[in-house]
Amino acid sequence: MTETKNNEGNAFRNESDIQEENLNNNSDLSRDSEEKSGEESEASVFYTFEAAEDESEIPKKTAVLMNFLELREIDEELADIEDEKGDLPSEIRTIKSKVERLSESLSAEKERFTNLTDEKNSLEDENSSYEDKINKYDEQKFNVRSNTEYDEITKAIESLFVVVEKNEKKIKEINKELEGLNLDSHNRETELSELKEELNEKEKQLNELNEQFLQEESALIEKRNNLISKLAPEYVTMYEKINGSYNGEATAIVRNGNCSGCYNSIPPQRVIEIKTAENIYTCQSCGRILISEELQSNG
Ligand SMILES: [Zn+2]
Repeated sequence: MTETKNNEGNAFRNESDIQEENLNNNSDLSRDSEEKSGEESEASVFYTFEAAEDESEIPKKTAVLMNFLELREIDEELADIEDEKGDLPSEIRTIKSKVERLSESLSAEKERFTNLTDEKNSLEDENSSYEDKINKYDEQKFNVRSNTEYDEITKAIESLFVVVEKNEKKIKEINKELEGLNLDSHNRETELSELKEELNEKEKQLNELNEQFLQEESALIEKRNNLISKLAPEYVTMYEKINGSYNGEATAIVRNGNCSGCYNSIPPQRVIEIKTAENIYTCQSCGRILISEELQSNG
């Protein structure tokens, strides 16, 4: 316990030592420039002042972070555009496959309808030819020369009747199925035409959106490429990787000590480091690039 306390005490002392050292260094620097200004021309005094501001007042990574902020704004807009179009292409695909399935069942039903109608026609033809035969047999009954002949004709008529009745039963069944098919086809045709109408509507919308966003998108992409070209490759890789997983939200703002992306808290020391912008920090919870609120509002 005492050891920990001592360590903590040491750490604290060390930190204040460093701060003191920094202060001394800074005052050394200012003394240096004062001495120099005394010796050199006014122009060089001005130059020294500028250089000092560049190195100490404007932190190193500010430009990169500002670039990230601008990129994020563009990527958010690009993501919004994708979102607006987003559902349409998949909706169009879904409707197209429905239309395809319906058309297939409709043509299968139509084929069945044709086959059944053909079958029914041939049964009706068969029956009418049998009825002719029955009529002929009936006439022959009056000219018979023996009982055996009469019986044979009666038997022939009876067997023809059996076939005719069987055919009529089958024709009734076919009529029933044809009726059902008619109803089914009618419903499917209505559904199909509704779907086709919906499909046309959505395709029209998508085309309009594509046209509407074409200019906006290419302007955003041009701006984006310009910003990307100003970044060192390692920062481009870093940004693109995070942007890839957060789709237009690669950066987050540190607000009241929290990450604006995931709302998790950031250790106070880290908040201070982020404010100095001497390094680029990502959120320990969500991985977004963290930018201080001050930097954002200055930008
Ligand atoms: Zn976060």
